[in-house]
Amino acid sequence: MTKEYDFIIIGAGPAGMTAAVYASRAGLKTALLESGAPGGKLLKTNEISNWPGILQEPGSQLAMDMFTHSTSFGAVYEYGKVVSITDGEKKQVVCEDGTIFAAPAVLVATGTKERLMNIPGEQEHIGRGVSYCAVCDGAFFRDREVAVIGGGNSALEEAVYLTQFASKVYLIMRRDVFRADKIAVDAAKENAKIEIIQKAVPKEVLSENGKVSGLKIADISSQEEKILPVSGIFPYIGADPVTDFLKPLGVLDEQGYMLVDESMETSVPLLYGAGDVCQKVLRQVVTAANDGAVAAQDAFHKIKLTNH
Ligand code: NDP
Repeated sequence: MTKEYDFIIIGAGPAGMTAAVYASRAGLKTALLESGAPGGKLLKTNEISNWPGILQEPGSQLAMDMFTHSTSFGAVYEYGKVVSITDGEKKQVVCEDGTIFAAPAVLVATGTKERLMNIPGEQEHIGRGVSYCAVCDGAFFRDREVAVIGGGNSALEEAVYLTQFASKVYLIMRRDVFRADKIAVDAAKENAKIEIIQKAVPKEVLSENGKVSGLKIADISSQEEKILPVSGIFPYIGADPVTDFLKPLGVLDEQGYMLVDESMETSVPLLYGAGDVCQKVLRQVVTAANDGAVAAQDAFHKIKLTNH
């Protein structure tokens, strides 16, 4: 089955949802294609405090408000897991279930996927103590000890979030330099429940009766190993772009991020990228929203003015 649109947006995070507002409000017949719940990383974020106009609110609330807004001008929310895109006068977006969406312009706003630690015991304990979402799973670790891996904004913010539940949070980072902003570093350092262990890496997830019972870590300089008695492990060691389906089109850098110009257009005409999936310096809700608006506006002009 082929569904025809003017503009297909793949991914309903802040970038995709903003693009849906701009495109549909401008009059484009717009599809917002998503394989999960709308909201993207907002759904995994406890509090947002850097979206202008809103001092602080749960990420899930902003996601819900954005979603309501994104479909309010007629954009159609469609379910689909994209496996390939073929170029042509009408681009064909092919989904896993065989459905094809066709449109002259396509925006990819698929974001990034959390990186795994790739250590023994990790895979088999996902959902049994290993979690990549503190907001989703933190409450399961009330009065338990947990470990957070990483020294970036995500790791520090989630470590602080987890102190609401956990009796203790170990923050394991491989360097002695934080990648996170000062405000996040200060909040973690000031929290009495957080113990920061620097220059250490996770080595193995240990378990008892199928559930996580500890994390083996090693000091980078001395190679000395030690076991932390944790029942929860939250790796926040960065993320990789979700762009496998774009590889044949030659629009990616060596890390798989999309290469776009100032109109968010790739080297393939009317194929756009927006949000975390693009090569860029600042990955934030506000920059994702900006990208979505720019892409939608450019697509609108090119489609309508060239009578596509
Ligand atoms: P980052 O890439 O910023 O940080 C990843 C962290 O994980 C780094 O400390 C890195 O160490 C460490 N790391 C990477 N690989 C390994 C490994 N194999 N073993 C151990 N440690 C490892 O990722 P984030 O997810 O924190 O953030 C992604 C983007 O989103 C950033 O741009 C960030 O600023 C942004 N963000 C902003 C927020 C905000 O403004 N409130 C909230 C959350 C994210 P090293 O430094 O040594 O490379």
